[in-house]
Amino acid sequence: MKSRLFSVVMCSICILLTGCQKSKENSKNSGQASSSLDLFAMDTYMNLKVFCDDMDTAKKALQDGETRIHELESLFSVTDPDSDVSRINQNAGNFTEIHPDTEIILETARRIHTESNGALSVSIYPVLKEWGFTTGNYQIPDSEILRDLLDSVDDTQILVQEHQVSIPDQMQIDFGALAKGYTGDQLISLFREYGAESALINLGGNVQALGTKPDGNPWNVAVVNPFEPEQNMCLLQIADKAVITSGNYERYFTGEDGQKYWHIIDPADGFPADNGLVSVTVIGENGLLCDALSTALFIMGTEQAAAYWQTLQNSVSDMDMILVTEDRKILVTETLLESGNFQNLSHFPVEVISYDKTD
Ligand code: ADP
Ligand code: MG
Repeated sequence: MKSRLFSVVMCSICILLTGCQKSKENSKNSGQASSSLDLFAMDTYMNLKVFCDDMDTAKKALQDGETRIHELESLFSVTDPDSDVSRINQNAGNFTEIHPDTEIILETARRIHTESNGALSVSIYPVLKEWGFTTGNYQIPDSEILRDLLDSVDDTQILVQEHQVSIPDQMQIDFGALAKGYTGDQLISLFREYGAESALINLGGNVQALGTKPDGNPWNVAVVNPFEPEQNMCLLQIADKAVITSGNYERYFTGEDGQKYWHIIDPADGFPADNGLVSVTVIGENGLLCDALSTALFIMGTEQAAAYWQTLQNSVSDMDMILVTEDRKILVTETLLESGNFQNLSHFPVEVISYDKTD
């Protein structure tokens, strides 16, 4: 599974590196120095590339970026017993002091939980464990056990106050759906502090760009074909945006019944979300929000996802999405199609998700 995941990630990176290579040539003209770093953290392969005024600054920015990633990992990891998340889980029933980073994640999780009618639920963790998605010891859970576990899934019971959080006794939480999005935002703002105006980061397929390429052209980012993850489905041109995908091809197993089961769980029944979508890509300025939404919209399915996008038009104007349906259609939001920054590389038909101004 790891090697499959690796190949998917590397596949996306391929396109990105082509973009970077060009930038490198141009970097000489623009007087920019670039440095890049590959690392494994948060259970995934990452690549960071940053352009600064000089090489020294670029290298320092990357070093600091790596430190920040490990810092956030040590707050959000479910396997590190000293992480904020583990301490909250171990101390269920009582209040636990938390870091401001953890508080921000919890606030966004709460907001999207409400706006998605419970689709995003960080308290789904015990159900995820029962399926074996945390260990790789996959199994289809016994229906009675699943019912019991679902009784404790209720994010509205998570209380956050004055840098403390409390969850009920039987509850356990995990930030798998949001942590990489937040990490992306943090890296981008850190690179800005180093004076960088161009950077591209890939956190296991979560891509986020700072500015444009140094030559002023947008970055090219590929979204993989969920039916053939070794191939790219479409190409996006972005600047100052995150491109975050949730799909049923990322982590899955085939059960004894021959069915495919994946790692995004619908809190409504405790089963892998199966509402007609095989992948959801969210494109926007805020990586944390895009990450939370990619998971939530995947669970909500086509109609609810499109309806949610309509509601966003009054507030977050920059958000776009690409939904891929199980019957092989690509649904793209009107604003993305009109921007000319979407290019279909596949044979799947593209349909538009229009903004209904009468809503
Ligand atoms: P990935 O991290 O694999 O790119 P996602 O951002 O969609 O993809 O996150 C999937 C992760 O979110 C799962 O591995 C699990 O940790 C967590 N998760 C699964 N279902 C839910 C859910 N309904 N609500 C919140 N988190 C979930
Ligand atoms: Mg997500």
